[in-house]
Amino acid sequence: MNFNDEAIKKVLLAGNYIEEKDIAIAEEYAKEHRGSFVDYLLGQGLLSRAIIGQAFAESFGVSYSDLEAHSPRKEQVFLIPEELAKKYRTVVYSQKGSDVVIATDDPTQEELLANLQPLFPDKKLTITLAIPDEIDAIFANYHLGLGAIFAKIIDSKGRAAPEIINQIFEEALLLKVSDIHCEPEEHRVVIRFRIDGVLHDVGEMPKEYYENIVNRLKVQSKLRIDEHFSAQDGVIRYASPSHTEMVDLRVSIVPTLDGEKVAIRILSSSVRDLGLSDIGLSLALQEQIIKSAKKPFGMILVTGPTGSGKTTTLYSIIKIINTRGTNITTIEDPVEYKIHGINQIQVNTQTNLTFGNGLRAIMRQDPNTIFVGEIRDLETADIAVNAALTGHLMLSTFHANNAATAIPRFIDMGVEPFLVGSTLELIVGQRLVRKICDSCKVSFRINKVAELESFGSEVARHFKDGATLYKGNGCEVCSHTGYKGRIGVFEFLSTSPELQNLIAKSPSTKDVMALIKSQGFVSMFEDGIEKVKAGMTTIEEVLRVVGS
Ligand SMILES: [Zn+2]
Repeated sequence: MNFNDEAIKKVLLAGNYIEEKDIAIAEEYAKEHRGSFVDYLLGQGLLSRAIIGQAFAESFGVSYSDLEAHSPRKEQVFLIPEELAKKYRTVVYSQKGSDVVIATDDPTQEELLANLQPLFPDKKLTITLAIPDEIDAIFANYHLGLGAIFAKIIDSKGRAAPEIINQIFEEALLLKVSDIHCEPEEHRVVIRFRIDGVLHDVGEMPKEYYENIVNRLKVQSKLRIDEHFSAQDGVIRYASPSHTEMVDLRVSIVPTLDGEKVAIRILSSSVRDLGLSDIGLSLALQEQIIKSAKKPFGMILVTGPTGSGKTTTLYSIIKIINTRGTNITTIEDPVEYKIHGINQIQVNTQTNLTFGNGLRAIMRQDPNTIFVGEIRDLETADIAVNAALTGHLMLSTFHANNAATAIPRFIDMGVEPFLVGSTLELIVGQRLVRKICDSCKVSFRINKVAELESFGSEVARHFKDGATLYKGNGCEVCSHTGYKGRIGVFEFLSTSPELQNLIAKSPSTKDVMALIKSQGFVSMFEDGIEKVKAGMTTIEEVLRVVGS
């Protein structure tokens, strides 16, 4: 909604809020001074923001909500997720019993009520009008408020950098953030946190303080501070006052047009709840994975894009087979968790300890099981296949969209197809979906499957009339997002004799899919739908990460 001068003039006159002669004087003045006649009227006291709001509200036939006089509380603001709020430019103005008053600067939006109503089941929503820049001011609540903290530190200190950095680290640990991004723009630097896979803006600072911050981060991660034009990677071992153990932070600095962008991955230093059920594997899949992992040789590949939880799955497998009678050696980049009783090697390109060289060295150490962080070139793939053929269980991640595409992609690297067929034991495809928050989970029934048609027929065909679904209403625990934590959705492709024969012929993804579908393959999407039915996640979330 655009509240420009013309529009304001129209509604003011239409509602008899102001006389034509006053507008004429104001316009004359505005023309002379190259200003806005609204500013003049405001300045002369002939008009107030509330009157403008009233006039517009009346023109839309709704009430006016004065956000400046009655600012909603932060927890009320969070009742509408940021994305939705900004899309429809809405905030919750007030809430009394079952009555919820919504303010927007455009009450004419058709889908507005329909899209907000699901957030407030059993409540009566009333749409009212608010002034655009007052709505923008309320949106600032969505930011977690690091910006205000930065400003305070900058005001009170000459040397602000160490304190700002600690503030960012502490806030990130508190919110269980996986990545911190410092993104320089032309005049400011935006700090963003990735929480449960989604990036959120959490604060900003003036750019003049940024150089000191980057310099300090470089010193802490033992990088060159005089280097501004090439990418650098390092690690900070951070001793947090609020944590008993050290936290490893992997720092990556990349030059951009507006300055050096810093991304920091927070690595947990030990494996806690990493059971196969914790990551979301059904009992049937757990049995299958244990059966494959207990074979003395062969290869298990876990595929998926970056951040899909591949390494976590492999660590869970390693935990199962980690007994005193066997030797497990890993080569990783980076070592993400330390596991007691296994030998973990960190890739180091400066000393030429690559995946390939490391793997060759490990082979001379007589291991039973080898975990290679990632197979990404022919050299590593060749050694891995050989290891798997000669009595070792090989575990690795592989960058492919799903289990079926991994087969042609692996062959494309240059490995003999028949060798791929005879070593591959199991390919796991996976993604992470957000879990519905347990503290505010509610169920609801769909009367007719047709209500799900908007998700596509691929989704709808998995449900029946009267099916029960679940969602999170939003609460303090989940920062009003309705989601808390993540869980994997999986697909398993274990090699049958028929598939081995097919792989030897260098098949396309389509060929592979055709065969495994006839053998009862369950895709990640289908596993996701099962998790929707079980109330673990939502249809929206499954479609977001897997598609259909
Ligand atoms: Zn919740």
